[in-house]
Amino acid sequence: GCYALYRSITYFYNAAPAMEVSAGVNLRAAMVSLVRNSNLDGIRSTIRQVDDRFNRNYNYPYILLNDEDFTSEFKKGIRAITKAPVYFGKVPKDHWGLSPYVTEGKVKEALERNRDRYIYGDSYSYRLMCRYQSGFIHKHPLLKDLDYYWRIEPDVNYFCDLPYDPFRYMRDKGLIYGFNISPPEKQATVETLWNTTQAWIMENQELLPEKSFIQWVVNEKAKYTLCHFWSNFEIVDLSFYRSEAYESYFQHLDRAGGFFYERWGDAPVHSIAAAMLLRKDQIHWFEDIGYHHPGYKHCPRNPEMADRCICKPSWNFMYTSSCARRFNNVKDISKKQALKLAQI
Ligand code: GDP
Ligand code: MN
Repeated sequence: GCYALYRSITYFYNAAPAMEVSAGVNLRAAMVSLVRNSNLDGIRSTIRQVDDRFNRNYNYPYILLNDEDFTSEFKKGIRAITKAPVYFGKVPKDHWGLSPYVTEGKVKEALERNRDRYIYGDSYSYRLMCRYQSGFIHKHPLLKDLDYYWRIEPDVNYFCDLPYDPFRYMRDKGLIYGFNISPPEKQATVETLWNTTQAWIMENQELLPEKSFIQWVVNEKAKYTLCHFWSNFEIVDLSFYRSEAYESYFQHLDRAGGFFYERWGDAPVHSIAAAMLLRKDQIHWFEDIGYHHPGYKHCPRNPEMADRCICKPSWNFMYTSSCARRFNNVKDISKKQALKLAQI
């Protein structure tokens, strides 16, 4: 009796602020994931958590993309777990495949050579996925009317209640790129990525902004820091990926062949582009979103944030790692200084 009443009152109070926030009109935004039919359990788990933590108050659509047809079992399984609208899309054939600039024989050799050098070293499909998420996902017809996307993946965890709309937060603050975890990339997967980037910079100086956060990815000695934003979580103003500069950069990378001859990931590619083409005040660390993707996790330690989470603040990767510290410490530099770093 009394306890139930107390529960319902606190429930009402706890729920009230979130309900208020959701009263506004949603932005043109969606949760987007590239998945296979075999990821059904994993993406159901993710969607369930995203709904619990945030999206039950907003009902932003889920857009799920696949290079194959989704099975009816997959679609049924997703629709059963969320009340938000769900769109299932197939990747257009010309967005998924070998880059026209590489030769099959050389790709075969590269996969053989890299088999034991790093994870997915010999995986062809992983490379198709990385190339797709670097250069094409933002061109999918289902994303045409979106201003923002929040990328989600199967089998990740969201630990914290989010009492506001991060899309709106991004828009109100003029933010372009939002991330959660920033580890260093494995050097062997990106051996020529920075040199290739330097060449693009020198050839396309007119596309560089007057000020940029490029020092996040390149140090004073013009050495690539390997720092990147882990793209399995990213909230992005899509006009960035649709920009002339980003497209030109992607085309340049695709011509260089490193998506196949090496194993360039969409994370380092997105990250170098963001650092090189944006200012620090356009990039945001969502510190308040506790998050786990196999390999790394982040849990907020600030008590105000931690109170809304079910993770352990002792998971302190983002408070101790060198790339996270570098993100906090480095500042924007001028185009002139950036060009100097690219020349060496
Ligand atoms: P990791 O996070 O780098 O270990 O790579 P994942 O295996 O998690 O792949 C990244 C994302 O791409 C996940 O959302 C996967 O479901 C998706 N993905 C990877 N390979 C394929 C593929 O061949 N087809 C489809 N449709 N999705 C894929
Ligand atoms: Mn993953």
